[in-house]
Amino acid sequence: MHIQENLEKILNTIPPHVTLVAVSKTRPPEDILEAYHAGHKIFGENKAQELISKQPELPDDIQWHFIGHLQRNKVKYIAPFVSMIQSADSFRLLREINKEALKVNRRIDCLLQFHIATEETKFGLDMEEAKEILDSREFSKFEGIRIRGVMGMATFTDDKDKVATEFKSLKNIFDRLKSSYFSDKDYFTFISGGMSGDYPVAIREGCNIIRVGTDIFGERQY
Ligand SMILES: *Cc1c(COP(=O)(O)O)cnc(C)c1O
Repeated sequence: MHIQENLEKILNTIPPHVTLVAVSKTRPPEDILEAYHAGHKIFGENKAQELISKQPELPDDIQWHFIGHLQRNKVKYIAPFVSMIQSADSFRLLREINKEALKVNRRIDCLLQFHIATEETKFGLDMEEAKEILDSREFSKFEGIRIRGVMGMATFTDDKDKVATEFKSLKNIFDRLKSSYFSDKDYFTFISGGMSGDYPVAIREGCNIIRVGTDIFGERQY
């Protein structure tokens, strides 16, 4: 694999305001180090166990984004070091992240994950659930988390119009939350969508974080 060239190719085609998260799930530390030495510092993992075992072996200034479904009983292991949890998809999970963040004197950046795909299997909130969280008194007192934006996964399909529609809905969700809850909050800025197959569409539709694995590291072997 030509990790450095792949990274450069992507970075040369995306606008400067878009953050690239290199999705390193299933990849050995050597691959991550190759990207790191090419200057990349932001990596994404989707399994707590895998992240916990890799993190101590790798440089301290890596920013780890958690992007998978997170079980509440695993939050305590990643809370001390995780840079952002992109996949906050329930009140109960946010409550746990808040609790564990406070224990280690941190405020953890989170994205609210929304269900934008037609596929049943994907996790995420709908608008009603998000409002319930954001309207609650309990949430307003959480000092251990900061909601930085939204995240979504489009349907896995070649139908670019469908994918575009789904990312549009994510942008729309972001805009509505921004005006209702975060209009005076400079930190509410992120819309995370787009993977190897669909990140150009995601960017066109307003996403400013993309999460790319295969196009950087090659096909995953499970
Ligand atoms: C694996 C994964 C990605 C990256 O997928 P690629 O197709 O390899 O780019 C992005 N987001 C999430 C949530 C993932 O689990």
